[in-house]
Amino acid sequence: MDMVEGRTVDYLRVSVTERCNFRCQYCMPEKPFSWVPKENLLSFEELFLFMKVAIDEGVNKIRITGGEPLLREGLDTFIKMIHDYKPDIDLALTTNAYLLPQTAQKLKDAGLKRLNISLDSLKPEVAHQIAQKDVLDQVLKGIDKALEVGLGVKINMVPLKGINDNEILDIIDYCQERNIKVRFIEYMENAHASKTIEGMHGREILEKVKERYTIKALGREGASPSFNYVLDDGYEFGLIDPHKHDFCENCNRIRLTAEGNLIPCLYFDEAMSIAESVKKGDIQGAADVLAQVLKDKPKENRWSEDNPNEEDISTRAFYETGG
Ligand code: SAM
Ligand code: SF4
Repeated sequence: MDMVEGRTVDYLRVSVTERCNFRCQYCMPEKPFSWVPKENLLSFEELFLFMKVAIDEGVNKIRITGGEPLLREGLDTFIKMIHDYKPDIDLALTTNAYLLPQTAQKLKDAGLKRLNISLDSLKPEVAHQIAQKDVLDQVLKGIDKALEVGLGVKINMVPLKGINDNEILDIIDYCQERNIKVRFIEYMENAHASKTIEGMHGREILEKVKERYTIKALGREGASPSFNYVLDDGYEFGLIDPHKHDFCENCNRIRLTAEGNLIPCLYFDEAMSIAESVKKGDIQGAADVLAQVLKDKPKENRWSEDNPNEEDISTRAFYETGG
């Protein structure tokens, strides 16, 4: 696919719903005033039509996300459509794991390879405080089930000051015991999050890890958003640090929302719709929108490394964009 400011865009994240069964304080603390009406959602066939265009243009990595993607009925059939079109595509899904106990096997059978699972706490009351629901037991069962059926698993944790910041080492222990990777995500300030929370900067997260370990920086893995580190005992973890000035240099991602808006950058509101094209089956029209969005991809986001100001607060809802 096209080079954008020296970056090859070959990674598409597709949100299949903005709805969610959690109310995470950093993402969707309250039920939105209104959901996108169901009739405005693209069908799986329409989403798939665009995905074929993107795959033919060189996308080789697809991540399905939301909202909570497992809430959308027929997801396994959608995964199978993508898998059958290009079996060697790197096909992953991001989920809060709540519905995994009953869906993991079906997802695996449909051709899904990997899961990124959000796990912010190992304490039931803290997990409840963050998701505003009693979720931990079911989430841990979901992770066990995913591992049991042979899906690749990575854990995402968003450390928040005074809430789960004292669990960073516990989450490393949990992941190390299961031989899975954890990626700590810097909280990204956005207008929809709870006003009462404060995220941790990447360097503060690393300080917590250094309370027990010596760590060595390994660097960014290709175009991955994660900067990798290795502990003195050999365990590797990642840090997703969008506040860092070089974070956007290798960004290879574009995003498609469930209603067909193609978004070049998580931070910004700008988007172009592919809905009309795919509803008409107009492949060339969809390809043209894709080309335009790639051309418009911003050079970098506006989360700044230091001295936060009002530009640091994105107006985007991550549950809509597909974080
Ligand atoms: N519901 C699924 C989940 O929670 O994994 C998928 C969608 S969620 C929007 C995708 C990822 O975005 C999750 O790992 C979540 O922790 C992260 N996320 C959401 N809001 C965020 C924020 N304000 N800052 C950092 N990460 C955020
Ligand atoms: Fe839902 Fe995921 Fe957002 Fe939490 S982070 S509210 S689970 S979409």
